Amino acid sequence: MKTRIYKSEDLNKKEVQEDIKNTLLSGRNVIFPTETVYGIGAYALSEKGIKGIYEVKGRPSDNPLIMHISNNTDIYKYTCDHQAYVEDLIQAFWPGPLTLVLKKKAQVPYIITGGLETVGVRMPSHPIALKVLDISDIPICAPSANISGKPSSTLFEHVLEDFKDRVDIMIDGGKSQVGIESTVLDVTAKIPVILRPGVITKEMLETVVPQVIGGKIHTSDDIPKAPGMKYRHYAPKGDLMVVDGNIDQVISYITKQINTTDSKNQIGVICTTDLKEAFTGAFVYSIGEPNQEEEIASNLFAALRAMDKANIETIYAIAFHEGKYKDALMNRLMKAANQQIIKL
Ligand code: AMP
Ligand code: MG
Repeated sequence: MKTRIYKSEDLNKKEVQEDIKNTLLSGRNVIFPTETVYGIGAYALSEKGIKGIYEVKGRPSDNPLIMHISNNTDIYKYTCDHQAYVEDLIQAFWPGPLTLVLKKKAQVPYIITGGLETVGVRMPSHPIALKVLDISDIPICAPSANISGKPSSTLFEHVLEDFKDRVDIMIDGGKSQVGIESTVLDVTAKIPVILRPGVITKEMLETVVPQVIGGKIHTSDDIPKAPGMKYRHYAPKGDLMVVDGNIDQVISYITKQINTTDSKNQIGVICTTDLKEAFTGAFVYSIGEPNQEEEIASNLFAALRAMDKANIETIYAIAFHEGKYKDALMNRLMKAANQQIIKL
């Protein structure tokens, strides 16, 4: 298969629009950017298209997919039994990086819900994602466009690395703005529960709903509430450890590792820009100024992928304890590290 690659401006051409629509309707896959990460899309009601996603990603079949819609009101077509506050959340946060888990209607196939009675639904805000939904006029399931287990794709080159000539169409939308996946919120009960933290935080949700449960860092002792949470995720090829302590302790610990390692084994460090010069001899990837959380979130997955490209076998990442995205960042880092943390 030879992948057809389109750019944003191509989406105004009639023949490209037809190609995207026909590809999805015939049960094949289209990769497109969203504001969170790149998604690999299939027509939600096409068994062939959905199977294609699971196959090409190598995704376990009990890890459900998020259904993307381009119109708020479509949520009523596919889900039912809404709590009164659901509409308030939609008004406040859609389009945007918030997935709502609701009771599904019969027409939503179990193949996308991993056999569950609920389905996750989101209206993305990225203009290309919305355009793809509008052109095709169908609901689209679009999990992150990465081989299962690897870091999500936030740059077009990541998508090429994983899927070139393995899907029909890819749309290049440059860098993902948010860079980590949507907040997943179970809204089936009176009090909503955060199943996966994201940039729409518990505090932000609580400006709309009086109480929200969860949002803390997921550790291996928790019972996974979103089926996908039990799987290894975001993992680089090398062995990643999160290092948690004050800045001086972290620098001295990592420096010691750099100085005592076998010289053939270069160590990788993921840190904020202020620490860039602190780790001589290591492969350092700085992901943003300490107070620039948006920038840090948008660069995290690129940092993990850069470690793979440089064939780094041992990676240390500094822990994040400050700022509104700390739960979302630590959730991704701890999974990438397979829960390995060094507390100093
Ligand atoms: P991804 O599409 O790769 O961003 O992963 C989707 C995430 O949403 C996974 O962690 C899923 O387990 C979670 N998810 C999707 N649908 C549901 C659902 N019906 N109930 C609980 N979690 C869900
Ligand atoms: Mg994913």
